[in-house]
Amino acid sequence: MKPAPFRYHRARDVEGATALLAELGDDAKVIAGGQSLVAMMNFRLARPAHLVDIGGLRELDHLGVGADGELRIGALTTHHTVETASPRELGAGFDVIRDAMAWIGHLPIRTRGTVGGSMAHGDATAEWCLLAVLLDAEFVARGPRGQRRIPAREFFFGYYTTALDPDEILVEIVFPRPAPHAALTEFAERRGDFAIVSAAVDLDTDGRTVNSGRVALGGVAAMPVRVPEAEAVLAAGGSFRDCAEAAADAVDPPGDANGSAHYRKHLIRTLVERACEEAMSR
Ligand SMILES: Cc1cc2nc3c(=O)[nH]c(=O)nc-3n(C[C@H](O)[C@H](O)[C@H](O)COP(=O)(O)OP(=O)(O)OC[C@H]3O[C@@H](n4cnc5c(N)ncnc54)[C@H](O)[C@@H]3O)c2cc1C
Repeated sequence: MKPAPFRYHRARDVEGATALLAELGDDAKVIAGGQSLVAMMNFRLARPAHLVDIGGLRELDHLGVGADGELRIGALTTHHTVETASPRELGAGFDVIRDAMAWIGHLPIRTRGTVGGSMAHGDATAEWCLLAVLLDAEFVARGPRGQRRIPAREFFFGYYTTALDPDEILVEIVFPRPAPHAALTEFAERRGDFAIVSAAVDLDTDGRTVNSGRVALGGVAAMPVRVPEAEAVLAAGGSFRDCAEAAADAVDPPGDANGSAHYRKHLIRTLVERACEEAMSR
């Protein structure tokens, strides 16, 4: 199918893009790599009358660790850029982010698709959204009223819904340094498909004893979620198996064509334990 008719606008800078979005109102949408939006338009799930193309804004394409140790990723940075970043660009300790890229679609999608586009799209099973929730990332958004930072726990609202206003553009995502032992894993029916369930953990450990840890799940709710019940098990010195059980007990996943709620709970048990073991082996 072809998309419904629309007018195309090429942005020259962020300020011009946000001003145009404010002028055009709800009829306009930003387009970055088009890897999600174009499919939605072709299926007529989205019918924007105007597309504001920010793909040429090189100022939003950057990646690097600052003096504060935080990783700052420009919204237009592609998944492939992160996947192939040098240790100097990505910095020590951010391997969990680099390794997670291999789970995203296929190479052509990773070459065009952007970090900001994935976050703004807000798919509940997207690897970037899960990483942001796991690691307490912050989102830098710019609009006609200026710039603001939004913590990950306040950014994702529900299925494909974020805290971004229609005239705001996501310009940068800031990741604090993860604990040294972090991992993301998932299950999809075919390589490159969106995950049915994904699990990510970030363990504070001396290599033998886990002092505390973060546990996050994708594909079990309208947005990725942290699981405090499973984190409490880790903090109390419980086993990875018990942590995984606690995670499965704590959530109430949906059932759909990809799998029943019961099946998703089974996946959670397997994937949380696997993620913990992978994290420990790093
Ligand atoms: C076959 C296939 C398989 C895929 N598999 C996976 C997968 O396994 N895991 C996964 O995570 N993703 C997957 N994707 C999606 C892919 O990761 C996309 O790169 C991602 O969803 C974002 O696409 P994009 O950057 O091209 O954004 P676009 O498609 O251009 O935009 C997506 C949405 O974000 C908005 N937007 C984009 N940039 C900004 C910005 N800077 N500020 C504000 N709003 C913005 C747009 O208005 C639109 O609503 C897959 C896609 C395809 C086609």
